[in-house]
Amino acid sequence: MSMLAATAAAVLTGQPAQAYCKISRWQYTTYTMHVRSSIPAGWQSAVSGAMHQWNGITNSSLALWGPIWNSGTANPEFVVDRVYFPSYGLPDVPGITLGPATSGTHTHAEVYLNTNFSWNTSGTMSQANRQVDVRTIAVHEIGHANGLHHPDACGAPDSAEIASVMYVNWTKKQNTTADDKAGMASHY
Ligand SMILES: [Zn+2]
Repeated sequence: MSMLAATAAAVLTGQPAQAYCKISRWQYTTYTMHVRSSIPAGWQSAVSGAMHQWNGITNSSLALWGPIWNSGTANPEFVVDRVYFPSYGLPDVPGITLGPATSGTHTHAEVYLNTNFSWNTSGTMSQANRQVDVRTIAVHEIGHANGLHHPDACGAPDSAEIASVMYVNWTKKQNTTADDKAGMASHY
């Protein structure tokens, strides 16, 4: 191996892992989350808890306000709703977030939860049985709304990335991790 190649390898190894993977960021730093009446009252604690996982992150200026429950506001910038995905031709996944782009900024985000899965608030996650935990999915989708992507979309995931709520592996992950927070600090 030449000296140049050896040096380059050392530099690459010495770089901190870019644990998070970003898409577009919110244009501003304050947004109010509107929750439609499709979300059962029994899910409110889980949904609110998921939202607040993205607040108060060190070196992140983003603040999410609310949630406003049973919101009937027309075209809110940030909304959580529950729909039957097959009716809309959406992928067969528990949740999806529309609005963010691949880069730049976005001005609205819609988090949809799929009624074609069996939901619980007890932390049960089973892909085989289509069982999903409300808070685990909500915290992940709100992360998309905030402009974070799946870490493995930016390369092979390291252990910190795999532990993050933004990495999909069908395990109960209700709280943002250091990796998720680093992404937010970088974005805002
Ligand atoms: Zn996702």
